[in-house]
Amino acid sequence: MESQKSIHHMQLHPGPFEKMKSGLKKSELRLNDEKRQQVKIGDYIEFTSRSDSSQKILTAVNYLKMYPTFHELFLGVQADYPTWEEEDFIKSMYEYYSLEEEATYGALEIGVELVTSNPSTICPECGSPSADNLTCWDMLGIICSWEWSDSELQKEHFLTVASYNLQHPAQFEEKALSQLRTALAEYLDHGVSPSELRRRASTAFEGSRKVLKKETDRITHLTQWPMTISAVYAEGNARGAAERVRDWGKSIRENGM
Ligand SMILES: [Zn+2]
Repeated sequence: MESQKSIHHMQLHPGPFEKMKSGLKKSELRLNDEKRQQVKIGDYIEFTSRSDSSQKILTAVNYLKMYPTFHELFLGVQADYPTWEEEDFIKSMYEYYSLEEEATYGALEIGVELVTSNPSTICPECGSPSADNLTCWDMLGIICSWEWSDSELQKEHFLTVASYNLQHPAQFEEKALSQLRTALAEYLDHGVSPSELRRRASTAFEGSRKVLKKETDRITHLTQWPMTISAVYAEGNARGAAERVRDWGKSIRENGM
């Protein structure tokens, strides 16, 4: 099981925002308050420009360093920002934070790496880029429609839907997901047929088939996968889709799901 990654939201002034968007700014320096203490390595931070809230970038956190004071923070990051003067830096921090806050929380350097400069175009759950403005769900519908004229693809229907669901797990109960992971492994490793898998699943659930989570209990986490549905959709190219579905399923299996 992939570890759960959260998306945090922060704002940036236009200058630093543009620098981060172009990849020149690789860290964000903040008070290490309760909000920042939630940030873990591997999480994502979506930065919004303070001057235009429609401007967003998505970054991944690659390291975290804590410092007792803004002075120590400055010394720690000096090499990355050679043009900065300590006095100006400290002054800018006190525009946001008080001495009391500095003493209480200390400072945090958050190392970030740009994931995309246009996060509205990626799926918040599987990270797939949207092709032709289609969501993952739209692409699934189109791929399934190809099954009508592609018997090889039709045979992989189980794999198509299982792969989609495993990469979009927020709506499902954990028990249903673990069942599905087992079924995918059985199918890929031992060639167990979908009808046999269905039979086993209904026995395991003993009638109480609670598959979907309540809408209010669903939490979306972004996970990065080596292959997502957009690669199967392949810009609407139906040819060879069965082969791509098998690669997709295998890549999910190999990634430990
Ligand atoms: Zn998706």
